Amino acid sequence: MIQSIVQWLSTAVTPQSSPLPGQVPNSAGAFAWQVDDWTRLDRFLVLGAEGGSYYAAERTLTLENAQAVLACVIADGARALARIVLISTEARAPKNDAAIFALAVAMKRGDEATRRAAAAAVPAVCRTGTHLFQLATAVQALGGWGRGTKRAFARWYTERAPRDLAWQLVKYQSRAGFSHRDVLRLAKPKGADATHDVLFRYATRGVRPEGGLASVDPALILVDAVEAAKTADRVTLIRLIVDHALPWECVPTVHLGSTEVWDALLHAGAHGMPFGAMLRNLARMTSNGLLKAGAPAIDTVVARLADGESVRRARVHPLSVLAALVTYQSGKGARGSLTWAPAPRLVKALDRAFYDAFANVAPTGKRWMLAVDVSGSMDAGVLGGFPGLTPRIGAAAMAMVTARTERSHEVVAFTAAPNGYGGQWGGGTPGLTGLDVAGRRLDDVVGAMRALPMGGTDCALPMVHALRRRIPVDVFVVYTDSETWAGSVHPAEALRAYRQAMGIPAKLVVVGMVSNQFTIADPDDAGMLDVVGFDAGAPAAIGIFAGA
Ligand code: CA
Repeated sequence: MIQSIVQWLSTAVTPQSSPLPGQVPNSAGAFAWQVDDWTRLDRFLVLGAEGGSYYAAERTLTLENAQAVLACVIADGARALARIVLISTEARAPKNDAAIFALAVAMKRGDEATRRAAAAAVPAVCRTGTHLFQLATAVQALGGWGRGTKRAFARWYTERAPRDLAWQLVKYQSRAGFSHRDVLRLAKPKGADATHDVLFRYATRGVRPEGGLASVDPALILVDAVEAAKTADRVTLIRLIVDHALPWECVPTVHLGSTEVWDALLHAGAHGMPFGAMLRNLARMTSNGLLKAGAPAIDTVVARLADGESVRRARVHPLSVLAALVTYQSGKGARGSLTWAPAPRLVKALDRAFYDAFANVAPTGKRWMLAVDVSGSMDAGVLGGFPGLTPRIGAAAMAMVTARTERSHEVVAFTAAPNGYGGQWGGGTPGLTGLDVAGRRLDDVVGAMRALPMGGTDCALPMVHALRRRIPVDVFVVYTDSETWAGSVHPAEALRAYRQAMGIPAKLVVVGMVSNQFTIADPDDAGMLDVVGFDAGAPAAIGIFAGA
């Protein structure tokens, strides 16, 4: 039985460019299947697309690409809305954009009851000002501002506690052409108390009471501080930052070059500057002199990076730390205008924080097999979401993440076949070579990957290999830069043959780290995922898909 399937795998030839049975060409010229709308709704909410693809590049969500969302909203509005709210509030998606768009569809296209329920769900799905602006954009595109829509937006403001609303107003100022002023002018919230009224007058017309907003309600002191900061001299600004923990977004541009101002930002608040902001601003703080070798502020940053608890509390992904490390170590900014001399202590602390951040990745408990492209092109190009990281470093780091978080894992590289030569380019037979990642350091893993002879990225090979050796695998992941060449058997067929022979409902993720477009996943197979490009949401998308 097993032997015959292996044999079948090597003889049944369905080149990747030909359709499988049941496939019909779609508008893009690729192949697609008819699928269940509710599965497509879930995919849309989690991945931001209805097919089996996660796209890293920002894409405008349109009703044209959300036909299943519309169908579900019409078929059973309450059920659709329940999924939208659940996936958004339980953070079951790497990004909230798709849930916000689907909520707008329910608000504008649902029946009376659905529209009312969707309006009531706005505060749950739109948790920040930015989310609300995204909803405004979607609502505008889907038919604009009826009375119910205006009321829903008004309630987002009137039902929010004053201190929280003040924070939302100063922190999230605008997005995609919408600001609080625009939304408030459209929604015209009424019937709020004196505190809300004073915030609305401030946000729409810039009007402030004589004694400041805090004279009406002490909870609004943050707004007074932000306003004072706009015209403050440096000494006053620093006091405001220290007293009110102003975020760096509230610092006027003219002061962003000041070492003292950044020193205050670094230390302000109960825990100091948020960890993520600290990582993203390392280059800026170094180039302006705050983190010059020997400067006392280095002690603060090094201490926070060395504090495993602080790394864990920030829930930062190892790749975010790695991107900061690679950029900082290079001594120059992504756009090339900034340069600095990296402090060795800080480099060492970042390196340690990278390994500490592995604790922030939750294990799925699944059995993983990763297959990594080791060709030369993996050293070219930069990942969209992690500036400074090449596909090679990104793939090596992701292999390490899996190896360190999942008990059961195996890493292989796409090489020439054993004793063979070539692969796709050399005219020989492609093969896989085992790669030991566990317990090794990143530079060591990257070096080992470079040293292997390259072969073609035949996406069916991992399943063929695992089946031949009877290796139990729940999740296959292919990491490549952009080439998703397949050999004599379609990856979807190889995956199905593997499932059938092993009795395991295995999944396949193909990651094209710098791709704009490719199609390996069978859109009718909920166990296949294409990750197109690589941003901060991609590791989460892979984890959610694998663990589901
Ligand atoms: Ca290549």
